[in-house]
Amino acid sequence: MEDIQVMGVRGLPLIHAGDDIAALVCGKVKFEDGDILSIASTIYSKAKGYTKKLADITASERAVRLGKLNGEDPRFVQAVLDASKDIIMEHPFILSEMAYGHIGVRAGVDQSNIEDGMVIFLPPDPMKAAEGLKDEIKKIAKKNVGVIITDTCGRSFRRGQTGNAIGWSGFTAIRDFRGDIDLFGHVLKITEEAVVDEIAGFANFVMGESNNGVPAVVFRNCGRWTGHDNLYFTNDEDITKRVLKKEGSKAGFSR
Ligand code: GDP
Ligand code: MN
Ligand code: MN
Repeated sequence: MEDIQVMGVRGLPLIHAGDDIAALVCGKVKFEDGDILSIASTIYSKAKGYTKKLADITASERAVRLGKLNGEDPRFVQAVLDASKDIIMEHPFILSEMAYGHIGVRAGVDQSNIEDGMVIFLPPDPMKAAEGLKDEIKKIAKKNVGVIITDTCGRSFRRGQTGNAIGWSGFTAIRDFRGDIDLFGHVLKITEEAVVDEIAGFANFVMGESNNGVPAVVFRNCGRWTGHDNLYFTNDEDITKRVLKKEGSKAGFSR
């Protein structure tokens, strides 16, 4: 197999509501079949208008309370609450679950890389968003290109943020190694590799976080894999979520 190539997509403009992301990226990249395009959720959301002016948001009582507790603008807190299906932790920062299963700090609501006084929401259905981009690229470039929509996320146990996949299309999220034989003849029983997060992590590295202006990254020669799309733990499986909720209620942070 050929070596993997990783190419940041440079020269994209500042994205505004109504922009056609697939067309803009296809104008910069000569795609090949099997390529994987990672794009920052930020530009997808800006293009689709998943943004709000803080001035247009009215904070609820809960948002005011949490704003005081965490030292944040209550209107920003309201945006976070609106984007959440379930609040797992209220303090020292809001950790919440979104409708499609992703769990993130402040529901992934951003105030960076957009004009002052505005917030950017994560796309409400990132799986559909990734599929839509894949189909549009197919139409424009006539190539089969997989798509990953990424966001920069914090994580448990380790300092530092990394890129996570919040939507994908064209391949499975997990590459399933269970049943494979290792170099010593042992059957692998546990290993399910979260391929989409590994690719999103490197894409995030190429993008940078501030003023790099590289919101899209193309991966070539990643090969193919088989597996499944059950990236998110079910409630029964998710020990961390259970413990956090219990600790939160012990500390008096009601939900
Ligand atoms: P997030 O990780 O999805 O929250 O997005 P970031 O705000 O970290 O941005 C990721 C990358 O995209 C960085 O290199 C930004 O400079 C770049 N970026 C963000 N918005 C735009 C935009 O509208 N146009 C361009 N060309 N780059 C952008
Ligand atoms: Mn973000
Ligand atoms: Mn980022």
